[in-house]
Amino acid sequence: MKRAKLFTPGPTEVPPEVLETQARPLVHHRSDAFRKAHLEVIEGLRYILRTEGPVVLLASSGTGAMEAAVVNLTRPGDKALVTVNGKFSERWAEITRTYGVKTVVVEAEWGESVAPEAIERAFEVNPGVSVFFTTHSETSTGVLQDVETLARIAHDHDALVIVDGISSVCAHDVRVDEWGIDCMVGGAQKGVMTPPGLSFLSLSPQAVRKMTAGRHPCYYFDLLAATRTAEKGDTPYTPAITLVFALQRALQMIREEGIEKVIARHAANARAVRAAVRALGLGLFASVPSNATTAAVPPPDKAAAIVRTMEERYGVKITGGQGKLKGKIIRLGHLGWYDRDDMVILISALEAALVDLEIVPGLGAGLEALGKAYRQSTP
Ligand SMILES: *Cc1c(COP(=O)(O)O)cnc(C)c1O
Repeated sequence: MKRAKLFTPGPTEVPPEVLETQARPLVHHRSDAFRKAHLEVIEGLRYILRTEGPVVLLASSGTGAMEAAVVNLTRPGDKALVTVNGKFSERWAEITRTYGVKTVVVEAEWGESVAPEAIERAFEVNPGVSVFFTTHSETSTGVLQDVETLARIAHDHDALVIVDGISSVCAHDVRVDEWGIDCMVGGAQKGVMTPPGLSFLSLSPQAVRKMTAGRHPCYYFDLLAATRTAEKGDTPYTPAITLVFALQRALQMIREEGIEKVIARHAANARAVRAAVRALGLGLFASVPSNATTAAVPPPDKAAAIVRTMEERYGVKITGGQGKLKGKIIRLGHLGWYDRDDMVILISALEAALVDLEIVPGLGAGLEALGKAYRQSTP
């Protein structure tokens, strides 16, 4: 069966070089070859996260690293503040509640970001908050959160700052050390162009100190054990060996391009897609749009048909809305290994589907706007 090309904010398209690397015969993990690759992966992740601190690789999807962060960086009786403005940020609150952490939620409408003033106020009226959780790029709504500002507020109130960067890493500037992020969580199948199955997180000295002093009971996701072994390129248990080699290759590609250029490419693609969406008469859902995905608002009751038509007729896989946005929005992913030529495919398929469904009268407006946006953004 013919495969639909992925324009989804995870999993994302994987470059052939990375797939080929993953397909090579297995190397045992207690070997110099594996340790060398693992250490290079950690260095590569430090490079994209802009941190000098420890980075841990886990065999799980992104949610596993989120849970590992909660288990290791909170303890029973802790009070946490969580920003919620979509499906993924809700997950932080679900995990903290699962572990009996007292959870204060600061909500914004889905499609909006959480205002710094709301966080400031929440810290003031909720004394004793020791951990702050937020989501850099809320993939369910396509909204970007100003993590740098929120981290500053949280630090002013002596809270540890834990950020879901699963869909922002590589798409946006992420400055873990400079912004004082105590733990930044990422996933392989998003901006780092690797098949699903690996997650990673960074740890600040304060984070390491806190988990050393006390945390929830844990075994597989013991980050102290993982950081200790990672220093020598080892893992406590069998790692996802082939995925680690794949991620090594993907990170080499990111280094060759340069992280600034990678982020600029995401920004240019996102800007062009937004221009095309607007030109096609669809609304933009996010008040502060992320470079990872564009959430567009089609006419009522058309979202599912657009997603289906794009996939079945034009071989382009996008996604609809999640949770309460189901049937209300479509999400066009441009996170990871995508260039202008890919955006031409994406917008062509969108236009064609809109014409088929008699939502727009004819072809051309989307591609026209896309091309114009690129001409304006490339010097
Ligand atoms: C994809 C995603 C997740 C969940 O990751 P899984 O790999 O599916 O567990 C969490 N947060 C954000 C922002 C995401 O985009």
